[in-house]
Amino acid sequence: MAKIKAIRGMNDILPEQTALWQYLEDTTRSVLSNYGYSEIRTPIVEYTDLFCRSIGEVTDIVEKEMYTFNDRNGESLTLRPEGTASCVRACEEHGLIFNQVQRLWYTGPMFRYERPQKGRYRQFHQIGVETFGMQGPNIDTELLLVTARLWKKLGIDHAVTLQLNTLGSAQARASYKDKLVAYLTQYFDLLDEDSQRRLSTNPLRILDSKNPQVQSLLENAPDFHECLDSESLVHFDQLKSNLDRLGITYEVNPRLVRGLDYYGRTVFEWVTDRLGAQGTVCAGGRYDGLVEQLGGRSTSAVGFAMGVERLVLLIEAEGYIPERLKRDTDIFVAAMGDQAEQKSLAMVEKLRDGIPWRITLDCSGGSFKSKMKKADRSGARVALILGENELEQGVIALKPLRTQEQQELIPLDQVVSELSADSRFFKE
Ligand code: ATP
Ligand code: MG
Repeated sequence: MAKIKAIRGMNDILPEQTALWQYLEDTTRSVLSNYGYSEIRTPIVEYTDLFCRSIGEVTDIVEKEMYTFNDRNGESLTLRPEGTASCVRACEEHGLIFNQVQRLWYTGPMFRYERPQKGRYRQFHQIGVETFGMQGPNIDTELLLVTARLWKKLGIDHAVTLQLNTLGSAQARASYKDKLVAYLTQYFDLLDEDSQRRLSTNPLRILDSKNPQVQSLLENAPDFHECLDSESLVHFDQLKSNLDRLGITYEVNPRLVRGLDYYGRTVFEWVTDRLGAQGTVCAGGRYDGLVEQLGGRSTSAVGFAMGVERLVLLIEAEGYIPERLKRDTDIFVAAMGDQAEQKSLAMVEKLRDGIPWRITLDCSGGSFKSKMKKADRSGARVALILGENELEQGVIALKPLRTQEQQELIPLDQVVSELSADSRFFKE
């Protein structure tokens, strides 16, 4: 019988990769906690309406990428394609937004029916951050500081650049829309089908088109920044001077609009040229209108989401990977013979009480030679060897595996204290 395979575009993350995933997740978690952010967890399925009303009917996501189905009650549900809508929904439902300040983050799988390729999948993972209740540009700045700090920790700061733009107020966008439509209508026949349709439904989205011919038409399109309202301009100028003062470099990209409807004012993307076409590793912006759009009271909001798969690829190619991630364990314990094996169970428990390193007790039998081979392959720094001889003498042999140092014998009851005091082997 043919074996069943995973769904196209939905990946298994195998043990050899999960260490890197965890490292990215742990590092992000610790940076976010440095800035006082708390985690929120929401279901991965929501009513379809939530995404239609927030992301926008005329967006790639809602038009063609959602996994939508009826449940047994006949209600239309959707696997979440992103996290912001769910976060706003949950915060509103539990009264976390009105008259409050929130700094939140979440992580988990997202689902979009896209053409799978490197850095683009149908189930992918995001780490997202959302903040509520802060209207000035300082919180926009803080989010960029969080991300810049994270890139530095992961050793990929040299490989990413920040693109920045402002989308102004709703009125500014409306008046720009008219100019853009007037301009693009002249070239209607040169537009692709999506853009032709969007000309009447959601023309700003055309700025986001990935079609090179459309992009080249846009080079001479009217300048968005000429339509901007003065308040948005002040907000943008303050953000830019904050970044200048803090030494965060950026490039203003007037055509950066982002693929979702709810953004206004600040938008940004961190991009890399090292991953081919899927170069955006983190994207976000301000969405002051969304809470109200979903039925709450008008609230300032700004956030971003990073693509975990793309960041993992970038760390593999360019980043800093701690040495410990390259080995399976730190200490390999080989006991020879039934009695020694039994004794080693309790000894290893004591060791685990006393020291923080990873300890693997070999439970698979075999000869001394084969155990030493396994010890070597595991990447462990040291092997602890307990055979009949050692047992008789009440000692254990400590064998350094990565240095020329001699094997030494340690009394059984001193193993914990010896190893706790000994950081020779476990620098990273
Ligand atoms: P793109 O322009 O690449 O389609 P997007 O604008 O649709 O991205 P967002 O909705 O802003 O992406 O999502 C934030 C981040 O999530 C992206 O910058 C990217 O890193 C990641 N991401 C989005 N879609 C996918 C996907 N299908 N597979 C892997 N990562 C993704
Ligand atoms: Mg997309």
